[in-house]
Amino acid sequence: MEGTPKQPKNCSSLLEQLVAEAREAPLGGQVADYIPALAEVAAEHVGIAVVELDGTTHTAGDFDVCFSIQSISKIFGLALAMERAGDSLWERVRMEPSGQAFNSVVQLEWEHGIPRNPFINAGAIVVSDVLTSRYSASKSALIQYIRYLAGTESVHTNHEVWESEKEHGNRNAALAYLMKSFGNIEADVPAVLDHYFFQCSVEMNCLQLAQSLGFLANKGIQPGTEERICDARSAHRINALLSTSGMYDQSGEFAFTVGLPAKSGVGGGIVAVVPDYGVIAAWSPPLNRFGNPTRAVQMVTEFAQRLGLSVYH
Ligand code: GLU
Repeated sequence: MEGTPKQPKNCSSLLEQLVAEAREAPLGGQVADYIPALAEVAAEHVGIAVVELDGTTHTAGDFDVCFSIQSISKIFGLALAMERAGDSLWERVRMEPSGQAFNSVVQLEWEHGIPRNPFINAGAIVVSDVLTSRYSASKSALIQYIRYLAGTESVHTNHEVWESEKEHGNRNAALAYLMKSFGNIEADVPAVLDHYFFQCSVEMNCLQLAQSLGFLANKGIQPGTEERICDARSAHRINALLSTSGMYDQSGEFAFTVGLPAKSGVGGGIVAVVPDYGVIAAWSPPLNRFGNPTRAVQMVTEFAQRLGLSVYH
């Protein structure tokens, strides 16, 4: 039986050990190669950061090297769209695991253009439509929001990745036009896709990611500034969606073995929320067959298991 999160005496040395073990382990897959800018990232990178609610920070490895956050950005987009759209958002995107690939088209056709959840691409494109329709400058609003949460102006979008995403974005375009045909996209599709690709191309490091998402571990209040980012119900809902749909088609296994709300991205990053404790962010570019970063997932798993952090205790 697992209890409330234990305060480890030697958290930093545990992280050092996890990074050392990860560096020894097999790469565990291939670096994403659907665009050149991601394929060029060195597979050997390994980093991890843990930020606790009281501001205590532990880091190891390449925790300060920026990488493409890709699907992790779907959390930021969703939090902002929930604030702008309120409950009407849930008429346009559901809250169920998809059981399909993150960029699957078939399910969307069967289900009349209503995506299963906001963490598959179709759902994130609906979220991007909400932001595009409700902000005169949605990309700027999103990056300012992320900078505010991360507490640094240095967060930026990689323009090479952004351009590449657009160039290789035919499947996402198919999802968007299909949803438009069902009346579930309001703005012009190219503008919505531009926002979505911009969002995917944001770069951050592990420390910035762990810092920025503290509000999800703290009932909507950002630790440090004590600003309310969202209401407690929204934080609860985002965590619930992360638990059921944040780890692609491995979300069930991740809940089973780790038991934390989490989101990964094809850039090799993963963030895991530990309610009332803090946030873990890890990075290692090679991806397993589900699109999750093998060694980064392993580090988060070890950390959570050794400290007894599962929410399902
Ligand atoms: N830019 C990627 C896409 O839309 C994001 C994929 C991901 O990280 O899941 O296909």
